[in-house]
Amino acid sequence: MPRSAAARPSLPLGSLTQRDARTASSCFDCSSPRVTSLSMNLTDGTPVDFTSCRVCGHKSWSHEGVELTVSDVIERTRKVS
Ligand SMILES: [Zn+2]
Repeated sequence: MPRSAAARPSLPLGSLTQRDARTASSCFDCSSPRVTSLSMNLTDGTPVDFTSCRVCGHKSWSHEGVELTVSDVIERTRKVS
């Protein structure tokens, strides 16, 4: 069985970081890898990844690979003393 990588997106060797490998972005709704993702911090300092799906339009925030609900995000964003 050939170890072909044809099904994988071509990545320049050496650019694979642990962080990117761990948080491999895909849509939480349709599982498509065709997403735009951004890393950001919420107001309370929680690092999150914002993912916007280019296939179904689903938008989500996740923290360590766990999807946050919009109310989670609002709650954390609102948590300003
Ligand atoms: Zn999707």
